[in-house]
Amino acid sequence: MLRPLNRELIREVSFLGDLFAEKVAGISSLEQWHDFCIQCRRCYLRQGANNIVFGEGNAQAEIMLIGEGPGAEEDRQGRPFVGAAGGLLDRIFAAAGWSRDEVYIANIVKCRPPGNRQPQKEEIEACLPLLQKQIELIDPRIIICLGATAARVLIKPNFFITRERGNWHKIGERMVMPTFHPAALLRDPGKKRPVWEDIKKVMALHKEITFRQSELGKKEF
Ligand code: URA
Repeated sequence: MLRPLNRELIREVSFLGDLFAEKVAGISSLEQWHDFCIQCRRCYLRQGANNIVFGEGNAQAEIMLIGEGPGAEEDRQGRPFVGAAGGLLDRIFAAAGWSRDEVYIANIVKCRPPGNRQPQKEEIEACLPLLQKQIELIDPRIIICLGATAARVLIKPNFFITRERGNWHKIGERMVMPTFHPAALLRDPGKKRPVWEDIKKVMALHKEITFRQSELGKKEF
């Protein structure tokens, strides 16, 4: 059963708003941000979670993948995508020639929604500033939205994943590719091919970016 919204908590959170913004502005490393985020109590999800799943990977990754929220295994280990969907994501990485140390993996919410339900609007709103700052600190060129929740939060609220996945979106300087969530591929293996097509687009753009960077580097010498 969903807990009713606690008005006191909301008041407390908005009272803390200025303090939060002030503290956030002073943080300039991902490590510091991790230490700040693991103290978060901005929504109820933390009460039912064993661990805050902050995210992991290369702090300077050029490719960042964003899922929905931790499941049971992620909550137990405190790491993203380590359950069944994570196993499939690892196979996608292997096919693309990426490793977990090269990319960065995070989620829209950092605490497990009970019973693996979708995160609610208030929970997403509470967690989003944490993710936004994390994105700024990592500063990836490319973001892959894994599933509809990530695409609806990062691209547009009415994003329809089946119809609209596989096309580039630009958010500021970053290119964003929405694709199916790995859990959807476990339920429907027919979605593997379109995901691979999307990943190939990411690989091609990443190659182009790397080439451009190396050409720029050469010019400096
Ligand atoms: N599903 C997600 O969206 N994220 C995880 O970390 C694991 C499963």
